[in-house]
Amino acid sequence: MSFLAKNYNRRKISFKRGKGSFLYSSNGERYLDFVQGIAVNSLGHSNSYLNKALSTQSKKVWHVSNSFVIPEGEELAKKLTKNTFAKFVIFQNSGAEATEVAIKVARKYFYTKNKPYKNRIICIKNSFHGRTIAAIHASGSKKMTEGFGPKIPGFDHFKFGDHKSLKKLITKKTAAIMVETVLGEGGIKIIPKWCLRGLRKICDQKKILLILDEVQCGVGRSGKFFAFEYAGIRPDIVPIAKGIGGGFPLGAVLMNKKVAIGMTPGTHGSTFGGNPLAMKIGNAVLDKVKKKNFLNNVQKKSRYFIKELNKIKKNYPKIIKDVRGVGLLIGVQLHKDQTKFIKKLEQNKLLTIRAAESVVRILPPLNVSRSEINLSIKIINKVCKEYK
Ligand SMILES: *Cc1c(COP(=O)(O)O)cnc(C)c1O
Repeated sequence: MSFLAKNYNRRKISFKRGKGSFLYSSNGERYLDFVQGIAVNSLGHSNSYLNKALSTQSKKVWHVSNSFVIPEGEELAKKLTKNTFAKFVIFQNSGAEATEVAIKVARKYFYTKNKPYKNRIICIKNSFHGRTIAAIHASGSKKMTEGFGPKIPGFDHFKFGDHKSLKKLITKKTAAIMVETVLGEGGIKIIPKWCLRGLRKICDQKKILLILDEVQCGVGRSGKFFAFEYAGIRPDIVPIAKGIGGGFPLGAVLMNKKVAIGMTPGTHGSTFGGNPLAMKIGNAVLDKVKKKNFLNNVQKKSRYFIKELNKIKKNYPKIIKDVRGVGLLIGVQLHKDQTKFIKKLEQNKLLTIRAAESVVRILPPLNVSRSEINLSIKIINKVCKEYK
């Protein structure tokens, strides 16, 4: 019997090791892992270059308090802000913490500007910003908030794509609009470029802040370092997490110079956030992922993968409704519930994960090879062929 609480519905499978795109189960089977810890292992499992960074740093110093200067963190913050919209960074350990800090930064900014009444955040209904008390109320999802009352005030919601109701929600109490550039858990729904530009424009007109949650789609996952780069806009605050640690728990909030004025000594802290071990690994991941050539390769592989998936869709239009995504954040939407399909893929040794709206989410490591993509295509084809 398991002494872990029952808050997960776990698949009955465990792994003893991984290498690159593959996981090896306890009973000796090899799986092509296109979950990668949910877009976390940017460079695949047990990457030797990351292993080296980890073991080197582990022999020097793991953890010191943030009340001291941490050079590895200074270095990573410098890299994250170089040539980006951001001027300052706060490190955390996870995505939910990063989105929470994004909210704190937005509110504190207006408080500092003598506008403490400007504290409401507008979010997309049923989006995903993590599982802390504030983050679940930011998502406004009934399923996630049920039983966890009282409701945390300060969040307003509009339906994805409903521009009219979004505009109506903006009042003098609004501090920010916070959306995922690509809705990951929500079914790989991309906010179109023109919409992102529209959001930036509204925020400028109303003098409110734009927070883009790139916890899932950021750090190269989209084929650009940030997914919003495709729209050519500059947000004010961006939480990132999943991909930046390459499997090591690490999150961060990036902010522009203007909004950072509120974050004075004592306004925020984290015991673990930004410790030397995490920072060393973050630096190593970033050195690979931020390279133009690396990102171009993500885009190339993405185009190939999506093209091949669309061929399958064409052959099985009754099973597959839509293929969508950006970079290596790919969704295959089925006409019906995807549970059985994901199970069949797993039986054929391909691991994928669900997202909302009957989507099978496909998240290879960013350094996946073409032959591994071909292997997955073969498996998906087979499952479609045998699917009833
Ligand atoms: C995963 C995710 C989070 C939460 O990250 P955790 O590390 O699980 O707390 C927040 N926002 C988005 C968009 C995510 O995909």
